[in-house]
Amino acid sequence: MSPRRRSCTVTRSPVLVSARYEKDRAVPGERSTLTRREFLSAAGAGAAMFACAPGPTAAQAARYDLIIRGGRVIDPSVRLDAVRDVAIAAGRIAAVEPTIAAQAAETIDARGKLVVPGLIDIHTHAARSAEGPPLMLQEGVTGWIDAGSQGADHIADTIAVARSSPSPGRVLINIGRAGILPDGDTMDLKRADVAAARDAIAKNRDFIAGVKARLSRDVAGPNDFEVLRRAQEVASAFNVPVMIHMGQTISPIPRLFDLLKRGDVVTHMFAPPPNSIIDDSGHILPAVLAARRRGVWFDVANGQNGHLRWDTVEAIMKTGFWPDSFSTDWNTNSRQTGVVDFPNCMSKLFGYGMTVNEAIARATVNPSRIFPLFNDRGTLNVGAPADVAILELREGTFEFVDNYKNTITGRQRLFPSATVLAGKRIART
Ligand SMILES: [Zn+2]
Repeated sequence: MSPRRRSCTVTRSPVLVSARYEKDRAVPGERSTLTRREFLSAAGAGAAMFACAPGPTAAQAARYDLIIRGGRVIDPSVRLDAVRDVAIAAGRIAAVEPTIAAQAAETIDARGKLVVPGLIDIHTHAARSAEGPPLMLQEGVTGWIDAGSQGADHIADTIAVARSSPSPGRVLINIGRAGILPDGDTMDLKRADVAAARDAIAKNRDFIAGVKARLSRDVAGPNDFEVLRRAQEVASAFNVPVMIHMGQTISPIPRLFDLLKRGDVVTHMFAPPPNSIIDDSGHILPAVLAARRRGVWFDVANGQNGHLRWDTVEAIMKTGFWPDSFSTDWNTNSRQTGVVDFPNCMSKLFGYGMTVNEAIARATVNPSRIFPLFNDRGTLNVGAPADVAILELREGTFEFVDNYKNTITGRQRLFPSATVLAGKRIART
């Protein structure tokens, strides 16, 4: 080792090295010395003066707030699937590179783990209590929609939770003014009160992201069509989407789907018959295909009762009509149900041909397009808000439960490992 090389090793700027000479370095962590080739390359590029200049200032050394090192970064928004370091500064993604030599105030060692954009769950009941959003953060969920827990009468309760949530969250207003009722939100059609819902949205436009219409026979009875018509009447005044809770309706699918417009969401898309999206001979209904063609989204919403049955899942997956988004239908009891957590729900279609990358797209970039609030999220692009989920993809034997106590066995399952929200690591509880 020549003295000259040694002197340059101790005084080089980490910024220079990260910018120019780390690209061909295969082994992360071995960055305390420049190789001869790198040194010559630096000298040849006219950078030797800088490389041999006095050491980095404190500001340069702590250039980033946080670096997540060595994880397998899967970011379907840019078709990236590779081992990368992710640097974060001022709450935003600052760099995604094979190796980032600069220092950071905090480091997360993600070797052996998946580093993905923060998960976005568009069908939850997180706003039923203030503890909801922080609990979901533990599962990697950094953005959420409460799907109609409350209607006009008590919408202030769910908005208060959204307002105080550490993660961005919004609510859908239940067209039934009393919200979710055990006897059926709109079994009494008077509860589908257009004026009350419009008034609530007008007063809370910043926190109400759309309208929820629950249409199953035990929720709306014979009123399903009229309830959806009224939901659209409310939504049209504000140009917001309607999310319908489908499955086991009294009206047939074509009649209901006729009322869906571009940007609306069909949730519980794997609901078994009666009135599933697939017919008995294994064909997706033409009205369903037409809805997707005109820009209606299809969402999973795992849930607990009546929304997911493996034989229906298998038949629908076989046709290639796959969901646009995963969601959980989460509530504070989900850990004790077949939901468990969002990464578990994302793992349920691996056995039906979905890859890990395809599942991650449906929990990140896809849902980011459904509600405007999330438009700049669901990505690790430089400049995006630094919301990151670190997951473990474990191999083994895992049981997944539908809503009818049927189990399937899978060989891979995603587990939450750590969450970063707006550039800050969330403490595990
Ligand atoms: Zn729900």
